[in-house]
Amino acid sequence: MTEKSEFFNPELETMDREQIEKLQLERLKTTVEHCMHSAFYKQRFKEAGLEPGDIRSLDDIRKIPFTTKQDLRDTYPFGMASVPLSQCVRLHSSSGTTGNPTVILHTQKDLNEWANAVARCLWMVGCRPDDVFQNTSGYGMFTGGLGFQYGAERLGMLTVPAAAGNTRRQLKFFTDFGTTVVHAIPSYATRIYEVMQQEGIDPRRDTKLRTLVIGAEPHSEEQRRRIQDMLGVKAYNSFGMSEMCGPGVAFECKEQNGMHIWEDYYIVEIVDPKTLEPVPDGEIGELVLTTINREAMPLLRYRTRDLTRIIPGECPCGRHHKRIDRMKGRSDDMIVLRGVNIFPIQVEQVLMRYKELGSNYLITLKTDEVNDSMTVEVELAQSYTGGHDAQKALIKSITSRLHDEILITPLVMLLQPGSLAQSEGKAVRVKDLRSVFK
Ligand code: AMP
Ligand code: ZN
Repeated sequence: MTEKSEFFNPELETMDREQIEKLQLERLKTTVEHCMHSAFYKQRFKEAGLEPGDIRSLDDIRKIPFTTKQDLRDTYPFGMASVPLSQCVRLHSSSGTTGNPTVILHTQKDLNEWANAVARCLWMVGCRPDDVFQNTSGYGMFTGGLGFQYGAERLGMLTVPAAAGNTRRQLKFFTDFGTTVVHAIPSYATRIYEVMQQEGIDPRRDTKLRTLVIGAEPHSEEQRRRIQDMLGVKAYNSFGMSEMCGPGVAFECKEQNGMHIWEDYYIVEIVDPKTLEPVPDGEIGELVLTTINREAMPLLRYRTRDLTRIIPGECPCGRHHKRIDRMKGRSDDMIVLRGVNIFPIQVEQVLMRYKELGSNYLITLKTDEVNDSMTVEVELAQSYTGGHDAQKALIKSITSRLHDEILITPLVMLLQPGSLAQSEGKAVRVKDLRSVFK
């Protein structure tokens, strides 16, 4: 049996399935009642001929219409609030590439609960008050900044709000402050290592780094292993999104086998993105989340567009909250090339198996004379010394393995380390230059 001290909130974390579902039903009913204060949901329920009293069991959730990102845009900025604005103390907004951005409102209670959720995640992977936590996320509207800040403070760690970029300064903080835990998006974690190499810093010898929290963007198991080996840390996957507060939705435990989704905060459904019908545990589909512990702006059956699956079976850690698998990607990120469906993560999985390669890559889609084509540019590892012939053989091998994985033969190009542009936020992995007029 896992020690009680391994849990931040033993009562909520170790509930059995029956207790979880009982609490979920209570909270779902309260949430649905509360949503009737939102003009949007009041109208939605009316249109669906639904009354809050119709929700009597957890299965009844399926009677409720889905909420989409478009709904958030249509009601921008405050149309979904379930409390008066005077009770809200913060908003976060994620910028939309098209149309209105989206806004999420929080009351003080929402912020407290969010901090509790993030603290619970960090505690789960071994963070304790004597740790020093450095956050390399952008602060401001991006929830990875303030979300981790308040969670780490709630746990009681000394926190370093270093914010994004300025990697040399980050390294100085690591060594000067004795940082033990870092939060970084995966593409930035590899950047940190590159700069360490340039500066002659050996993370095992010169820092106290022990735990890395990586999330906010899709990454493969291969990428995680690489990051762990490079930095000499354990790296834990963290999943969140602004619409659900931000970080703290689902997080890996020490087993590193799927992310526990906190079911006292969320009801999780996985649906077939086409039929919108539930898929059985173990099958991949779209993640749909209902917030059941939020005041300012609850969301019912929110279609996240993220593709994942429930990992069947029990986790040895003693938590019965369901586990979701590493994200396969977002349904809107799927590349359809010459009729073949490809997720960028499939390309990454292949590339990351080569120790000759670095961690940065870019997929470019173009329209050639007749066909659409894919180019995969990937940086060589800093330690790579192969000559012309070796590189030719390497390209051949990568091309053939990529073909096996994605059924398309891309043009593979090897680049010198540091050639690809680094973004401060989430990495841009795909450039689609295809002509829509063919
Ligand atoms: P944002 O609301 O800007 O923080 O973006 C949230 C989105 O980032 C999610 O819907 C996912 O597509 C992606 N995301 C967040 N965490 C992860 C993760 N651990 N793995 C893969 N994708 C993630
Ligand atoms: Zn577990």
